[in-house]
Amino acid sequence: MRKKIIAGNWKMNMTYDEGQILTSEIVQMAQDEQLKDVILVLNPPFPHLHVVKKLIGGASNVFVGAQNCSDKESGAYTGEVSAPILASFGVSFVIIGHSERREYFEETNELLTEKVKQALAAGLQPIFCCGESLDIREAGTHEPNVKYQLTDSLFELSAEEISKVTIAYEPIWAIGTGKTASAEQAQEMHAAIRKHLAGKYGKEVADSISILYGGSMKPSNAAELLAKPDVDGGLIGGASLKSRDFIDIAKSY
Ligand code: PEP
Repeated sequence: MRKKIIAGNWKMNMTYDEGQILTSEIVQMAQDEQLKDVILVLNPPFPHLHVVKKLIGGASNVFVGAQNCSDKESGAYTGEVSAPILASFGVSFVIIGHSERREYFEETNELLTEKVKQALAAGLQPIFCCGESLDIREAGTHEPNVKYQLTDSLFELSAEEISKVTIAYEPIWAIGTGKTASAEQAQEMHAAIRKHLAGKYGKEVADSISILYGGSMKPSNAAELLAKPDVDGGLIGGASLKSRDFIDIAKSY
């Protein structure tokens, strides 16, 4: 059975106090509303990670994740945060290759391979993002484009390594725009991604990998997206900043 994951990407939002309130509300609601079958991952900015981890406490299905990590293990890289540092205080997940990092920080497929390897070596679970721009979608080449992102960044991993990676399919034209891919468009791409993984690693491995959808997911459209057979959860931006919305998305499973 694939893991069902609802991950919140806070991006560069929330003061320290706001982050603590949001975390406490989410943990409390998850407990009160007996949200047990879904894994919740909170991905706040770096300075929040430690306190978010503390506030999660013993909640067995809530985890903390980072939004990025360095492609290097340690050393003189001012301003960077390595995967081993994150792992050393209990961070469990790390988002790698978000389209905003690819675009604004010029992260290449090659660099992302190194980040994924660092994360895996440190025992973190990478949430690897892929997705096409509007131009590519309109040209009808979204499927080969996304497959190429996966091949180029991930296909040198072993079967054991890739089994520890969660994929997030995030069409760039749907991120933060309010424009969601239809459930059919999401299913079509998720199935194509799974088939591509099966072509390289075999059906058993491909069937074990969770593929999340990201792009303006909210309580009103989550149920339809999450009902699709190859959609195993969501990576949520805007709606993860409101505890009620985040929990309602998870509950719509
Ligand atoms: C994201 O940034 O990963 C994302 C999906 O954002 P939003 O939900 O706001 O579209």
